Amino acid sequence: MYTTAFLDLPPLRSAAGTVRLPGSKSISNRVLLLAGLCQGRTRVYDLLDSDDTRVMLEALRQLGCGIEREADALVIHGLGGRLAVHEAQLFLGNAGTAMRPLVATLAVLSGLQGGCFELSGVPRMHERPIGDLVDALRDLGCQIDYLGQAGYPPLRLTGGHPRVDAPIRVRGDVSSQFLTALLMAAPLLCAQAPVRIEVVGELISKPYIEITLQLLARFGVQVQREGWRAFTIAQGATYRSPGEIHVEADASSASYFIALGALAASAQAPVRIEGVGAHSIQGDIRFIDAAQAMGAVVQQGPNWLEVHRGRWPLRAIDLDCNHIPDAAMTLAIMALYADGPSTLRNIASWRVKETDRIAAMATELRKLGAEVIEAADSLTVYPLRQVRAAAIHTYDDHRVAMCFSLAAFHGLIDGLSAPQPLRILEPRCVAKTFPDYFETLFSVARAEVADIPVLTIDGPTASGKGTLAAEVAKALGYHLLDSGALYRAAALAAQEAGLDAQDEAALAALAAQLPLRFEPGRIWLGDRDVSEAVRREDIGALASQISAHAAVRDALRQRQLEFRRLPGLVADGRDMGTVIFPDATLKVFLTASAETRAQRRHKQLISKGISANLDTLLQALKARDARDQSRRTAPLRPAQDAQLLDNSALSIEASVQQVLVWWAQRRPFK
Ligand code: C5P
Repeated sequence: MYTTAFLDLPPLRSAAGTVRLPGSKSISNRVLLLAGLCQGRTRVYDLLDSDDTRVMLEALRQLGCGIEREADALVIHGLGGRLAVHEAQLFLGNAGTAMRPLVATLAVLSGLQGGCFELSGVPRMHERPIGDLVDALRDLGCQIDYLGQAGYPPLRLTGGHPRVDAPIRVRGDVSSQFLTALLMAAPLLCAQAPVRIEVVGELISKPYIEITLQLLARFGVQVQREGWRAFTIAQGATYRSPGEIHVEADASSASYFIALGALAASAQAPVRIEGVGAHSIQGDIRFIDAAQAMGAVVQQGPNWLEVHRGRWPLRAIDLDCNHIPDAAMTLAIMALYADGPSTLRNIASWRVKETDRIAAMATELRKLGAEVIEAADSLTVYPLRQVRAAAIHTYDDHRVAMCFSLAAFHGLIDGLSAPQPLRILEPRCVAKTFPDYFETLFSVARAEVADIPVLTIDGPTASGKGTLAAEVAKALGYHLLDSGALYRAAALAAQEAGLDAQDEAALAALAAQLPLRFEPGRIWLGDRDVSEAVRREDIGALASQISAHAAVRDALRQRQLEFRRLPGLVADGRDMGTVIFPDATLKVFLTASAETRAQRRHKQLISKGISANLDTLLQALKARDARDQSRRTAPLRPAQDAQLLDNSALSIEASVQQVLVWWAQRRPFK
């Protein structure tokens, strides 16, 4: 997961390969609550692990449900319809799928069994309407108070006397989650009489009600439906655990990869999506029809999809999107690649989601250079004719972040000027439903190597390059290449093989075959963790000797180039800016006086409990500098276009800040 302040996507050119998507948010949170309400244990497979499911799980835990993690499943011990805890304060983040159903079930339970529950969320949650649900529950006899603004969370539920002598009436035209919440709570009310729920006004987002009904059925509750106007739960219906249940992959998440296939995959190498397909119970799977209408070629099996580009440019559409409200945001981005303006209609519910999504999409699409017409309940997007390097604000809305990543393929639009990088601000918001979204995207998306940005940090030994490079890579979300570690690992292997430090050919052959593997913070040589061993002083000195051989450097060159992967690279060493990545966006040459560096190394060794002599260290360090600087191949010296940074008197934070300022100056974003 990217926890950086922003994530820059270079222009993307194509996509191919297989993705497995995380579980559906809508299914996961419904399953969790039903498992929490029913008697006995439910083993849940493929549950989504994200912000929204975490708040639901935490709420269930606070309410006294047993939760056990098994290797490949989560086991929930249900309450059997009896409150185990009668007072709790539940924090539900920005998860509508947790807030609405928990309000309904806890309002009814506290009414029947006594209790006091407070439910709150992040500030945006307190702007998302819940008044229609509260009205329906109050009509039933539940006692509910608004703790902030009337009509919105936070809420306090303090009992009351729920009775079902008349039908429950609820509005269906603001959020379908109000009806879902009442349907999920209804079995708690039907001990004496059947429960009838009537929808007032038009019901939006019907497919989500379909998911609710299907899952209630899996938990033993059959709902009689009269069209979309009335729903009846028979007297005596109770939740019964299905024992185990599999959560299918999220169809809304699939929309990004369906679009990806339509934009950037070929028939020979399509994008394959596993975990969701033709048999899905999720309404957003119908996004496939819209994508096909725009030109995507989609093949499908029960739980897989394969997508590639058909028509190009895409065909513009004019579509009522009420049945696929979430996935329709992806269509707004596909519209950039179409042959005329596309209009998405009947999307007023976008205005009460994680953010006002109509306003958000319009604003951010315009930043890119697109023409957009925003109306109360529709959005018209024109094909992209000019592009600007845009920093996309994401409004703490996972779907804004995910769908805009697809705008990074604008280089595929015929006749557009030079493609631009795209910045996604606060990319962490994808954690709401798809924490590893960007990693998954990068696993199937391709860029031209020259477009993948590189930042190099070269300098002499003990100048603090390693620490600086690691911090900068962390801040940018980029990969990290510690090239010194490659030479050190080669030196370690050479020492163990008893090779002569002057035997260039043998050393080069060994370097070319090294079974090296890098993990964050760890280095493996075959099946040995050599992270500590390569840090030894004698290995550093030997690395300096063998790295003077041109053939050894050649043997390690390709491995270094392979670190240049999406979304970008920070590389530290001696010749990163001069030899390996001469086209780097920013080259930093880091220095500090020999005395400062010797003192740093001395401190480092002492802190590790290794005895060391400052003077000896200073001499060794000067000898290493001299050898690195005077060798014929790739001598240590700043690239001509390098920024020099003497950090003798700088803290690590100050050095990192300086490098990030230089970086920002070289990027096209305002
Ligand atoms: O940076 P570090 O001290 O880990 O590097 C060990 C040795 O490897 C250096 O003294 C240098 O001689 C060699 N090296 C190199 N080129 C690089 C990185 C390291 O020659 N890019």
